Amino acid sequence: MSNDGASGRIQRIVAILEEMYGVPPARREDPLDALVATVLSQNTSDVNSGRAFRSLKERFPSWEAVREADVRDVADAIRTGGLADVKAARIQGILDHLHSEGGSASLDFLERLDTRAAQEYLVSLDGVGPKTAACTLLFGCGMPVLPVDTHVLRVARRLGLVSERCGAEAAHEAMASVVPPDLVYPLHVNMIVHGRRRCRPQRPRCDGCLLAPECTRSPERTLGKENASE
Ligand code: SF4
Repeated sequence: MSNDGASGRIQRIVAILEEMYGVPPARREDPLDALVATVLSQNTSDVNSGRAFRSLKERFPSWEAVREADVRDVADAIRTGGLADVKAARIQGILDHLHSEGGSASLDFLERLDTRAAQEYLVSLDGVGPKTAACTLLFGCGMPVLPVDTHVLRVARRLGLVSERCGAEAAHEAMASVVPPDLVYPLHVNMIVHGRRRCRPQRPRCDGCLLAPECTRSPERTLGKENASE
C-alpha cells in the first residue's frame, strides 16, 4: 500500500476509534516525570506503577533529591511497582547521567532537539528502549512519536498495520512511517483503550466491533476469503 493509501486508512481507523471511545483528552507532563513514570511501568500494571510514581513524588521533593538519596530509600518508595531494586538503580542511573551532562536532573532540553535527535538521546540512556523513549516524547514533549506497547502491537497486527510476526521494536519504525504526525496521539491512546476493552489477547469481542471491516481477523473478512477460495 502507498503511504497515501496507508495514511487514508489510518485516518479511517482513528475516526472509527473515536466513534467507539471518544476523542482522547489532551495530556501533557513534565518530560522527566513522563520518563520516570514509564520506567516504573515496565513489567507491571498501570495501577501498580501509578501508585509507585505517586509514592516516589510524595517521598522526595525533587528529582535531584531522588538522585542524591540512598538507593534503598528510592526502592522502598517504589516497592508497589515491582522490581523495585532494579528500577530504583535504573532511575538513579538516568538522573546521574542527566546531572553529569547538564548540571541538573532535567530533560527540558529535549524540546530544543528535533524528534529523531531526541529519540536517539533517550535510547542511549541505560534502561530506556524505544517504547519508553516514545512515551517520554509523546506525553512529555508533545512530539509525534507513537509508543508501541503490548495492546498497540496486538491491535496493529490484527488490523494489518504491521505483519503478524512484527516485533515491538520493528513496529515502532513501521508505524512511524505510515501514521501522520497529527494522528499519532489519538491513535495511540484509543488503540490502548480498544486493546483493553474489546480487542483483548484471548477471545476478542469482535461482535459489534466497528473496526471489523478493517480487521484481518473479523469473521466477515475470513468468510470473504473462504468464499473467494471456493
Ligand atoms: S474485529 Fe475483533 S480482532 Fe478485529 S479489531 Fe475488532 S475486536 Fe479486534
